[in-house]
Amino acid sequence: ALLYMKGSTLTMHNEVKSTSASDGSASPFNPYKMAVQQFDIAAEKLGLSEDMREILRRPKRELTVHFPVRLDNGRIRTFTGYRVQHNVNRGPAKGGIRYGPDVTLDEVKALAMWMAWKCAVVGIPFGGAKGGVICDPKDMTPAELERLTRRYATEIAIIIGPHSDIPAPDVNTNPQVMAWIMDTYSMHEGFSIPAVVTGKPLSIGGSEGRNEATATGVLFVTRQAAKRIGMPLRGARVSIQGYGNAGSIAARLFHNEGCKIVAVSDSRGAIYNENGLDLAEVSRHKQETGSVVGFIHAQAIRVQDVVEVPCDILIPAALEGIITAASAERIQARIIAEAANGPTTPEADRILYKRGVMIIPDILANAGGVTVSYFEWVQDLQSFFWGVEEITQRLEMIMNRSFAAVAEKADQFHCDMRLAANMLAISRVAEATQIRGIYP
Ligand code: GLU
Repeated sequence: ALLYMKGSTLTMHNEVKSTSASDGSASPFNPYKMAVQQFDIAAEKLGLSEDMREILRRPKRELTVHFPVRLDNGRIRTFTGYRVQHNVNRGPAKGGIRYGPDVTLDEVKALAMWMAWKCAVVGIPFGGAKGGVICDPKDMTPAELERLTRRYATEIAIIIGPHSDIPAPDVNTNPQVMAWIMDTYSMHEGFSIPAVVTGKPLSIGGSEGRNEATATGVLFVTRQAAKRIGMPLRGARVSIQGYGNAGSIAARLFHNEGCKIVAVSDSRGAIYNENGLDLAEVSRHKQETGSVVGFIHAQAIRVQDVVEVPCDILIPAALEGIITAASAERIQARIIAEAANGPTTPEADRILYKRGVMIIPDILANAGGVTVSYFEWVQDLQSFFWGVEEITQRLEMIMNRSFAAVAEKADQFHCDMRLAANMLAISRVAEATQIRGIYP
C-alpha cells in the first residue's frame, strides 16, 4: 500500500491550507517583513554599518523538511516543517517549535530573529532559532502527534543538538512533545541527552518553574512598568488575548496579584465580564468543552474585541499581528505587555506611542520563558538541579535588570520601549559578530 495505489483512489492528501497570512489576498501581513522593518528602524537609530545590517537582517540557516507520517487510519500524509537559525555569535541557537495550520517559513524566520534579540536583551548566552510544522494538532490524535513529532525531530536532528540548537515549546507544543523530541534524539545518539531541548517534564530533566516562566516574567516586568507610570496593579483591569501556556497562567498570576481579569479569548472566541471573570470556573469550562466560548457568567465578544475592551493592562498572548493600526486607535489599556511574539505591527507601534500607551515589547516581556530554559539547559549540562525559589529569584533579577536597562535606553533616546529594546539587543549581537570576525 505504500508503493502502489490501492484501487483507483489517489487521495493522499498533503495539501497545505492556503491562509490569509500566506496567500496575501485577504491580508498582506508578513511577520518576516515586519521583523526586518523593526530591525531597520533600530539599525538606523544605532547607526549600524551597512555591512553589519547585511549580516544581521537574514537568518544564518533555513531548513525545510517534508516528511511522511502514518495516520491512525493507515493512510500516509506528508507534512512540511521548518527549523531556522538566526545569528549564533552569542551562543547556540535557541527557540521554540510551534505547530499550526497557518505556519509559514516567513513566520518562522521572523520568530528566529526575535529569539536572537530576546536572548541578547536579557543577556543569556544564546543565539536565535525557531521551528514549526504545518499541521492542525486539534485534528490529530496523540499517537499521530507523537509520530509526527518523532519524525520531524529526526529530520531536523541534522542541525539541532545541546551545543548547536536547542528547541523548546511554543504555540501548540508542550512538555510531552519536548519529551518525544528528547527521546528521539537520544535514541539516535545511543544515550540520553536531556540538554537537547528545554521545557521538558520534570521527571526527565526539566526545570522547576519552566512551565510558568513566560507568564511569571510577564508579571515581573508589568510590575516595573506599572511602577514607572504610577499605576497600582491591585484592582487593575486586565484583558488577555490567548489562553494557552502564557495566557492562561498569566490570568492566574495577575489575578493573584489583585488584578481583575475582565476578558479572555482563545482561537474559537472570547468572553468579557466587566466585574471580572471567575478564573477557576473559566478553566473548568475550557477543560470540559475545549474552549472559553460558551462560559455563561460572561458576555460573548469577538476575539478582536478583547484588544479593545475597557481595561488597564492588555496582554496579547497568542499570535502575530493582532494589534493593527485600526485597533491601536481604539485600545483603552495604559500598558500592553506582549506575552506573544510579534503581536503589534510597526504602524500600531507608532500610534500607541503617540497616544501614550506603554508597550513592554515581546522580546523583553516574554523573555522569562527562554530565561528559565537557559536555567534548565545549564542544570541538564551539570546534572545538578536547583530549587524553585532559586529559579524564581534569578528570573526576577534578570527580568528587573533587563527592564531597567531598556527603560534607561528609552529615556536616553526619547523613544518607545520596543526601539530601546531592539537597540540594546541588536548592539549586543552586532558586537559579538564584530569581535568574532568574518570567517574565513
Ligand atoms: N517559545 C518561547 C519563546 O518564544 C520559548 C523559547 C525557549 O525557551 O527556547 O520565547
